[in-house]
Amino acid sequence: MNLLNLTPEEAESVLSQWIVDRGEPNYRTRQVLPRLWQRPVATWHDTTDLPRPLIQALERDFPLQRPTLVSHQKSVDGTVKFLWKLDGDTAIESVLIPERSRTTLCVSSQAGCAYDCVFCATGAMGFQRHLQPWEITAQVRELTLDERYGTPTHVVFMGMGEPLHNWQAVDQALTILNHPSGMGIGARRITVSTIGIVPNLRRLAARPEQFRVAISLHAPSSQRRFKLMPVERKYPIADVLEAVQEIRKRVTFEYVMIKGMNDSDDDARDLAQIARATGALVNLLPLHPGGAGTLRPSSAERIKQFASLLQSNGAKVTVRRSRGLDISGACGQLRIDTPLGSDIEAK
Ligand code: SAH
Repeated sequence: MNLLNLTPEEAESVLSQWIVDRGEPNYRTRQVLPRLWQRPVATWHDTTDLPRPLIQALERDFPLQRPTLVSHQKSVDGTVKFLWKLDGDTAIESVLIPERSRTTLCVSSQAGCAYDCVFCATGAMGFQRHLQPWEITAQVRELTLDERYGTPTHVVFMGMGEPLHNWQAVDQALTILNHPSGMGIGARRITVSTIGIVPNLRRLAARPEQFRVAISLHAPSSQRRFKLMPVERKYPIADVLEAVQEIRKRVTFEYVMIKGMNDSDDDARDLAQIARATGALVNLLPLHPGGAGTLRPSSAERIKQFASLLQSNGAKVTVRRSRGLDISGACGQLRIDTPLGSDIEAK
């Protein structure tokens, strides 16, 4: 059984029963449980305070599954992109972004993505499979295990995949990341970014913790959004905005600036109106090359004008600085080209 796929509470109850069944003292549970996430070990053999037979039994009954680090690339700006191999030929990436006192890890929730946003490199590779909870949280756990990095202060679900398309696993992973007996990362330091899978957005909004939500909006009207994001047909912007009202914390609207597609003065005014109505913060970012085909980013000048137009129309706005461009680690650039095997192994 893979304890890392359970919530901390479930893992505790499985472990304590197992401890009792083995005739071990109850306090063993309190020694073993923190080794899953709080003070993780790579293998049970690395625990020093347990008797050898117990370690061997843990190895046999609850082996700790880990992804394999295939490569890590460091950008000139300090951003690090990790390529992990999961079982078989599945691979995923995560990106670590250090900024002064915080380090943000951008995690993947799926291998590939099913939603095919026209500007996104992950979308272009298609959908491979959902990740299990442990495969999502392992991206954090592995950094905790690695003394070069340590546990990130913030986690954003902005890597590969659509987190709300894999709700069951993401729901579970959120609990593991946040729970005091899990990784203990504050809910306000965990952001789920989504194109707006409405029923699951509602489920996320209904959770009692204050997880942050970012909505990939990218256009202020159904007609224009549909050209960029095919999901608009199934979950139109109006339904997404209605579900947004159920989120108790301020949401962020992510808005990739694409020349001639969504960056007109009218777009800015319409977007400002939506942002005002929902109290959202608009986060502008330039289109990054990668999956975008013939699309081009709006100029820096245009982004500035767009931002001030939003502001003068009463919207709150920030412009995101691109990180990790030189290692294709920026938003929307994550992509695995070859099926795992020869090519990736060689990196
Ligand atoms: N599926 C989720 C999680 C991925 S997050 C979502 O879409 O929100 C990745 C973020 O990067 C999203 O806001 C996405 O719209 C944005 N993005 C995708 N392709 C991009 C590109 N080429 N340039 C800049 N941002 C991009």
